[in-house]
Amino acid sequence: MTPVSAREVKELLRRHGVIAKKGYGQNFLVDGRVLEIIVRAVAPDAHTVVLEVGPGLGALTSALAERAKRVVAIEKDASLRPVLDEVLSRHGNVEIVYEDCLKVDLRALMAPRMAQGERLVFAANLPYYVTTPILFQVLESELPVSRAVVMVQREVADRMVAEPGGKDYGVLSVGVQYRGRVRRVANVPPSAFLPQPGVESAVVEIDCEMRPAVRAADEAVLFRVVRAAFGTRRKTLENALAAGLGEPKEAVRHKVTAAGIDPGTRAERLSLADFVRLADEFAQ
Ligand code: SAM
Repeated sequence: MTPVSAREVKELLRRHGVIAKKGYGQNFLVDGRVLEIIVRAVAPDAHTVVLEVGPGLGALTSALAERAKRVVAIEKDASLRPVLDEVLSRHGNVEIVYEDCLKVDLRALMAPRMAQGERLVFAANLPYYVTTPILFQVLESELPVSRAVVMVQREVADRMVAEPGGKDYGVLSVGVQYRGRVRRVANVPPSAFLPQPGVESAVVEIDCEMRPAVRAADEAVLFRVVRAAFGTRRKTLENALAAGLGEPKEAVRHKVTAAGIDPGTRAERLSLADFVRLADEFAQ
């Protein structure tokens, strides 16, 4: 049985004597339509390997395993093992790794689990207390992820899809948009989960195959520059960069101007291409 309704999830928890752990961000999906929306965005087929973080009670894992070649899922809460064993018993193509995903070397985990010609998709209903660290761990892992489909808090989704000029545009927007085309797939109400979270959620897709053409000479420099630029929002770009990077204002102004950017503008006005040009000046 795949637990996709509140009644089924309650029954499963009761039978196994499991209580949802708030500290692990355990809000289980109990809406089959939302599950289907995630599965459709992942678009698993016989060549797809899915890396999932936080399988929980296995509802999404099971739905993905129906259509994917293989699902490798990392779950921090080992006390869910009996539940996952039961829910996933009919799938021979699922492997659960009971670890804190932030402590796992994802490349070392996935390399022996993937073959030539397979497509890797990251899918997760993320625990909200560690959304950004997990997302960046995956996006920076050098895994050949072709797409990431994640459930996040709605305000995190707003920041992920934000465009220059808006109040939500910041480090997270540039960070994810640098790695792929970002799209909000759906907004999701608290009623889709058990227990219900105190916030709205959204499913976001990052299509890494539709990555923008711009590339920074040194990505570490790019993200240092982006973090410094947004570090003090009310400052002009040159003041924010000088403060954040600890460089003299004159030198900063020279580099900003050389990148074809007005030193008096603000970080939220810069496009991804502007940030890349700017970072390339600082990388020299
Ligand atoms: N995928 C399930 C669903 O959609 O119903 C559960 C999602 S629940 C929001 C988040 C899951 O992530 C929980 O099962 C929780 O135990 C797990 N989790 C929390 N922190 C984790 C970490 N650092 N590494 C791996 N799993 C984690």
